[in-house]
Amino acid sequence: MPKIHNKQLNFFVNKIIIPGIIGICAVIIFFYATNFTLTTYQTWNTTCLEYQNSVKWYVNKDLNIKSKDLFHVLNSCMDTLCKMGIDTSELGQIKIIFAANDKDYQWKVFFCNEAELGKSFTNNTLVLRPSDFAGNKLINRIKDSTYTYQLDLVISHELVHCITKDKLGFFRFIYHNIRNPWKNEGIAEHIAGRSSLKTEDGFKEFFAINDKNSLIQTDKRLSVQYFYFLSRLKTDYLLSKGISWNEFFKNNYDEQELEEKIKQELKDSTYTYPTRKPIRF
Ligand SMILES: [Zn+2]
Repeated sequence: MPKIHNKQLNFFVNKIIIPGIIGICAVIIFFYATNFTLTTYQTWNTTCLEYQNSVKWYVNKDLNIKSKDLFHVLNSCMDTLCKMGIDTSELGQIKIIFAANDKDYQWKVFFCNEAELGKSFTNNTLVLRPSDFAGNKLINRIKDSTYTYQLDLVISHELVHCITKDKLGFFRFIYHNIRNPWKNEGIAEHIAGRSSLKTEDGFKEFFAINDKNSLIQTDKRLSVQYFYFLSRLKTDYLLSKGISWNEFFKNNYDEQELEEKIKQELKDSTYTYPTRKPIRF
């Protein structure tokens, strides 16, 4: 530590400035080391394919994947995003890692719930459940049941999380993930134009939420899907009223009040779901 004769300055330099710089450097080194370790671990035994210089795909070497099938799926994702007003040239460097099977998925994401289809990490890395690229399907097996989802829409959903993080900035994105997870999931479902739950099943729950017979009270998988349905419903509704992407994240909404308002407008037929038009930033 440098010796400075002025006592106050000595304290400022040796107790605040130097430890502060060391702390910041440690955080940066830790971030890059974790990033490197995570990517190396998650992409072990995979082949890498590149798409438009911004997306890297990692697929298990043992799976016989045709690159034209992969490109076809990604083209559909980009189409979806462009139609919704997203400038895909603004997409940063993104890695998409496909798990070879469900067990591999669990290892790659460390922790997941059984209904989860994919996970996006804050370093722009997506990990997805095993997929059938030729059939554009993502497969999720829960106990003895197999559920399939449209793969390009699941990827579009996850890409919206990356775009949201870039637009909001890392800390605001984390804040919204904790305080308003419905906003992050709602905007992702809205842009991707997907719904885990059939619209009629979603509305059955929406109007019977306090009913003891409501399925979401007992079925864990359904309750996760209902959360996504409700998040998209609220997002669709707000954006249909002309709210911009920025206002959507900036405004504070009383969720209960908002849901009651939507219920009323659906009953009065002054609002029809779904409504999707290009995002206004
Ligand atoms: Zn999501």
